[in-house]
Amino acid sequence: MPSVKEFHPGDVVRMRKPHPCGGQEWTITRVGADVRLRCLKCGRRVMLSRSHFEKRIKETISSAVLNSAAEEQ
Ligand SMILES: [Zn+2]
Repeated sequence: MPSVKEFHPGDVVRMRKPHPCGGQEWTITRVGADVRLRCLKCGRRVMLSRSHFEKRIKETISSAVLNSAAEEQ
């Protein structure tokens, strides 16, 4: 398994701890020093520091890069 994780806007990820609404899946809307996420269940947006995000992420469900490499800029 690769040890370096890369994240891109449009990726769908699952977090270790569910959102209070019960949702566990999030879509990444922005990646930088901070990572912005939107809950797929309730639509609420949150921002986490990148290190915090990497500790909380459980798995990547779908990769925007793999799904639409042609759109990479
Ligand atoms: Zn939610």
